[in-house]
Amino acid sequence: MKKIYFKVISILIIATIILNAVSISYAASSISSQKNELNQKIQETKDNLNEVNSQKEESQNKVNDLSSQIDSYESQINSLKSEIETKTNEVQELQKKLDELEAEREKNQNLLDERLVTLYEAGEVSYLDMLLSSTDLTEFISSYYMIETLTAADKELIQNLENDKKEIAETQEKVNSSLSEIETKKTELESVQQELSKAKNEEQTKVDELTEQSHDLESDVEEYEKKMKELDAKEKAQEAALQKKYEEAKKKAEQGNSSGSSSSSGSSSGSGSSVSSKGFIRPVKSGSITATMYYSSGKYHGAVDFGVSTGTPVYAAADGIVVTSTWGGSDSYGYYIKIKHYNGLYTLYAHGSSLVASVGQEVKQGQLIMYSGNTGNSTGPHLHFEVRVSPGGYSNRVNPLNYLP
Ligand SMILES: [Zn+2]
Repeated sequence: MKKIYFKVISILIIATIILNAVSISYAASSISSQKNELNQKIQETKDNLNEVNSQKEESQNKVNDLSSQIDSYESQINSLKSEIETKTNEVQELQKKLDELEAEREKNQNLLDERLVTLYEAGEVSYLDMLLSSTDLTEFISSYYMIETLTAADKELIQNLENDKKEIAETQEKVNSSLSEIETKKTELESVQQELSKAKNEEQTKVDELTEQSHDLESDVEEYEKKMKELDAKEKAQEAALQKKYEEAKKKAEQGNSSGSSSSSGSSSGSGSSVSSKGFIRPVKSGSITATMYYSSGKYHGAVDFGVSTGTPVYAAADGIVVTSTWGGSDSYGYYIKIKHYNGLYTLYAHGSSLVASVGQEVKQGQLIMYSGNTGNSTGPHLHFEVRVSPGGYSNRVNPLNYLP
């Protein structure tokens, strides 16, 4: 009972340690993955921004086009307005003339009426009176004919005035009808102009919205780029700290060597593990080499593979500082570790099932750093082991067989 309890506790502790190791390595490595994520975000946001800006430009062009159309209608409407004014004045002038003619006609009509009365009275009633009141026959005749002549002249004058009135009224009617035509046209143009204005306002709203979107995206990009700078600085600081740690550990290792004590312990790697002339041991105790350096489908396999089952302990090939302990991607290394050794070489251990050592950790030769697995671009459980002369780049890989015992 007690034994089982102890066992459970041990498993829990180990599990916690492993989980911690993994989470630490995540935290330590997250800068590069954060940078990748951020870069992707920046690219997406910039693409989005370009799209929004081109939409905005398109809408702005439409607004400009509508504006110039509206302006052209405006000038047409204005010229119709001045035409209307001219015609209205003309109608008023004609009306004034008509009124004058009417007054004249009335005046002459009254005169005529008077004369007609005189004539009538002379003709129907008082010929005798007129004859008697006349000093002689000649005066009577001349009076009579004079009135008759005047009457005829009056009649002619009135007729002329009426003819003039008729003519002017006709002209006025023509002007009036052309005026109403112009007004109809103006109304039509105004309604088209109003529709154009409405369309322009709608398009302008779009432009405003897109402008706002564009500004938002721009500030997003700015924010992301600021974050990126912070990450760059963080990464640089981390690299510097790592380098400092490496230099210190290297110095310590060299002092240890020169003080006469035997080179790096390797004790935990157990007996039987031999050290090569280059100072490396095999990273796994079991498992044969299943693949070496080769080219395959255009890709160079710059490593040796050890055929080991998932969960096999993986050991540091030599003393050094862990510079990478991370998830390298499902299409790549999976969980992997990279160690910088004091001789300037790097070793890399890939496709692990779980990580034990974390970034910045000083490790001894033969120290457990990882459990092997089948993660990343791997077709079966194995340990992929690389030796590099420089940290980055596949071209810096050298044949591990030349370094292993
Ligand atoms: Zn491999």
